Amino acid sequence: MSEQFDVVVIGAGPGGYVAAIRAAQLGLKTACVDAFIGKDGKPALGGTCLNIGCIPSKALLDSSKQFHNLTHSFKDHGISADNARIDVPAMIARKDKIVKQFTGGIAMLFKGVKGNPVTAIAGFATLKPGKVISIKGHDGKSAEISAKHVIIAAGSQPIELPFAKFDNKLILDNAGGLDVTEVPKRLGVIGSGVIGLEMGSVWRRLGSEVTILEALPDFLAAADADISKAAAREFKKQGLDIKLGAKVSKAEIKGNEVHLIYSDASGEKSLVVDKLLVAVGRKAATAGLLAEGTGVKLDDRGRIVVDAHCATGVEGVWAIGDCVRGPMLAHKASEEGIAVAELIAGLPGHVNLDTVPWVIYTEPEIAWVGKTEAECKAADIPYKVGSFPFAAIGRAVAMNEPAGLVKVIAHAETDRILGLHMCGANVSEMIHEGVVAMEFNGSADDLARICHAHPTLSEAVHEAALAVDKRAIHKSN
Ligand code: FAD
Ligand code: NAD
Repeated sequence: MSEQFDVVVIGAGPGGYVAAIRAAQLGLKTACVDAFIGKDGKPALGGTCLNIGCIPSKALLDSSKQFHNLTHSFKDHGISADNARIDVPAMIARKDKIVKQFTGGIAMLFKGVKGNPVTAIAGFATLKPGKVISIKGHDGKSAEISAKHVIIAAGSQPIELPFAKFDNKLILDNAGGLDVTEVPKRLGVIGSGVIGLEMGSVWRRLGSEVTILEALPDFLAAADADISKAAAREFKKQGLDIKLGAKVSKAEIKGNEVHLIYSDASGEKSLVVDKLLVAVGRKAATAGLLAEGTGVKLDDRGRIVVDAHCATGVEGVWAIGDCVRGPMLAHKASEEGIAVAELIAGLPGHVNLDTVPWVIYTEPEIAWVGKTEAECKAADIPYKVGSFPFAAIGRAVAMNEPAGLVKVIAHAETDRILGLHMCGANVSEMIHEGVVAMEFNGSADDLARICHAHPTLSEAVHEAALAVDKRAIHKSN
């Protein structure tokens, strides 16, 4: 008979591994099955986020930022460094070391749950009716286990364009984009979303000519328009060539180059690049996951259909993270993992998708939580706005980081905070002030009356909140 668990988690990304640890902490006999194979050819826990997503991309963003500061902004501080060079293989090796440290760390966390370690199983899982999980090991052997509860956390995969098939030599997917071993002279990127901007920034800072082709006419449409506008201005100064309304129809490999054809409002154009990164979004990784007859439903985008509590409607089968509705973000996946483990253990568990923060780790950083002005308008919500530029914040200027602004959107009648939007240095950390305020149903006046330390970048949040009622101190209202 197959081994029976209380909980089997499919996928060990930030959704799955967090769910497994929480379930084990709550005393449930838990297994976590994952199919990922790392760069060293061995199974690796951590999913997209730790292996080929959040962590490695931030390692490269940080390395390239250090190089860019050295070659561009240190001179403003009176620091000179001649003949600065970047050793790309060393930069990639540093990134790989960080990845290994964190993916290995999850195996330790699994073993370390007091008295109830998580059983890690390497292989590809298929859910069968009756909560039976069939696992195809990397050695080709198959096994079956069963569970009282199954949490599907299968994550997502990059979308491939039919005319630009990934070879990860010249045409790169998300993972290939993290393993380029020399600075490409000309980098083309399709898609000016989160990955396009972050990875485009990495290679631009290291000296590539970066051209980003974006199909939509608006830049970063998901962000508030004032923030997108401020960010676009900075990216332009940095030399990121972002072409909007550019529809690519062909990407042909010729020798060591990729020849692109695209059309925009002024007609058909061509572009030749040395590497092409395709970053046009990701799709739920549900292929081969569900056998006939499980009853688990997929929506028109291939995502698993769940309710507000991540229940699939099939008793004891749950789904979380990138393979379900909502933003494809690591922290959202993890919070859903915790909530579901707690629900299974009979505790209350819920994730408020309205207060999930977004962060884009470009320079300046972009961060937001809650509604944009456009969303308030579309929903007919009466609102008022206060904003404040970092150029008027002493700490930002002392840091040589005057770009960007903070914008608070509050309900016109109740003053309740509807959204906080930021573009500037360190806003990835500052956004949580807005998340906390919104979770506690805070008002703009609450933010405005909180004493913020001086001199800090967070004073921009304070001033933007004051500006909602036209009482900012350090600018005319
Ligand atoms: P995943 O992390 O995708 O993990 C799913 C795991 O399940 C994988 O290991 C997969 O191999 C395994 N699996 C799938 N199907 C099966 C199966 N049938 N059997 C066994 N195993 C299976 N998000 C952020 O919040 N911040 C960031 O800075 C950020 N940066 C990113 C940068 C890049 C380049 C990319 C690509 C993504 C980034 N993301 C970021 C998004 C983030 O990585 C995802 O939102 C997050 O990893 C989703 O977690 P998950 O657990 O749902 O799925
Ligand atoms: P994305 O959805 O952020 O952006 C894709 C962009 O490509 C969009 O602007 C879209 O209009 C454009 N596009 C789509 N088809 C196109 C085409 N044929 N030609 C030109 N442009 C086209 O997707 P992504 O950048 O691939 O990232 C995937 C997801 O991964 C993100 O949405 C996010 O959820 C997650 N992620 C998050 C972070 C972070 O939190 N910092 C970082 C990286 C990735």
